[in-house]
Amino acid sequence: MADKTAKWEENVPGKFYVDDQCIACDACVMEAPRFFEMNDIEGHAFVKAQPKSPEELEEAMAALEACPVEAIGTDGE
Ligand code: SF4
Repeated sequence: MADKTAKWEENVPGKFYVDDQCIACDACVMEAPRFFEMNDIEGHAFVKAQPKSPEELEEAMAALEACPVEAIGTDGE
């Protein structure tokens, strides 16, 4: 389970975030490129935009479900 106290600084404020368990596998970016981006230098993904519409939420949830290490959380501020 993702931990909001360990989320990366780059995550935009909101429900979704990526925490420090991320292994940079790229699955979330492939699944939902509108909302997830890779920081190639530091080697982890982060949330660049929060989903708003039901379709966007579905896309972001698909990314969450694709994460092999449960590094994506939805209990951000
Ligand atoms: S799917 Fe999970 S482990 Fe893979 S890049 Fe995204 S947050 Fe990181």
